[in-house]
Amino acid sequence: MKKIIALFILIAMTFILSSCQKENKVESALVYSLNENKSTPQFDAQNAYAMVDKQVSFGPRDPGSEGHKKGKEFLESELRKYADEVELQNFTYTGYENEKLELTNIIAKFNPKSEKRIFICAHWDCRPRSDQDKIEKNKLLPIPGANDGASGCGIILELARILKQNKIDYGIDLVLVDGEDYGKESDLTNYCLGAKYFAANVPSTYKPVFGVLLDLVGDKEAVFEKEGNSVQTAPDVVNMIWGIADKMKATTFSGAAGHSIYDDHIPLNQAGLFTIDIIDADLVGANTSVERRKYWHTQKDDMSNIGKETLQQVGAVLTKMIYSLTIN
Ligand SMILES: [Zn+2]
Repeated sequence: MKKIIALFILIAMTFILSSCQKENKVESALVYSLNENKSTPQFDAQNAYAMVDKQVSFGPRDPGSEGHKKGKEFLESELRKYADEVELQNFTYTGYENEKLELTNIIAKFNPKSEKRIFICAHWDCRPRSDQDKIEKNKLLPIPGANDGASGCGIILELARILKQNKIDYGIDLVLVDGEDYGKESDLTNYCLGAKYFAANVPSTYKPVFGVLLDLVGDKEAVFEKEGNSVQTAPDVVNMIWGIADKMKATTFSGAAGHSIYDDHIPLNQAGLFTIDIIDADLVGANTSVERRKYWHTQKDDMSNIGKETLQQVGAVLTKMIYSLTIN
């Protein structure tokens, strides 16, 4: 039954999203190019893994929790070591039953004065409930969020370290958004709160060429198909990244067409910030046939599922992209 509901939600989302996104398609104004012969620094998955583990060690980072506070302080202090500027976007949001959420997007800027920019983002919060857990009493607990949240941030922190040591000639923003996973199932209004806030508050002068969202990027047996909304909105960016992955033999990237997922890239795209989503979409709705992988939105989203090789592949593909890129 759950599977059917999940499938129905997926279909409904696909329909809603595909109908409202047609106008947003990037009209091949290719303002960037790749030179893959440039030297690329080494992405170190040991570091990324340690950064994922550290976040998980704080406990769940669901809004209002002790873990949320510690997680924010940690991510901010790490990014301050590396970025030229770090901006905290604090905002309050009224959630379920009048709950006042204090949320923060953490934005680390490299070459902040450059008008030629891209951004890479992930959500750093944890879901406040394990509503997919089979054990009834677990459903009210926040998820550990090793893959759903911490994995993308771990990769981003390692990218920040690399960017500090290896300068680039354009600008990059690393955007860690809060409140992605607050919403109850199928209540899209209460999802992606940080991305919505970021999208609503970008200065009119902020015109990044594209953005890349990372979500569920740490599983040992991850499969990254081309996410449907990303293909529809920014096919050139999808093809560029999957093309790099193909050349690097990053086998977690599959050329297959994947499901369409409602994620932080949707509000960003709606605001004209063209963003693609690298996501292990088969985890969503426990759509996978691998029993171990059915941990999405449960208490089992812990470090035991995280694989260094997956972090390495995603991180290395992004590093290659960053250091091959020229923005014209
Ligand atoms: Zn989630």
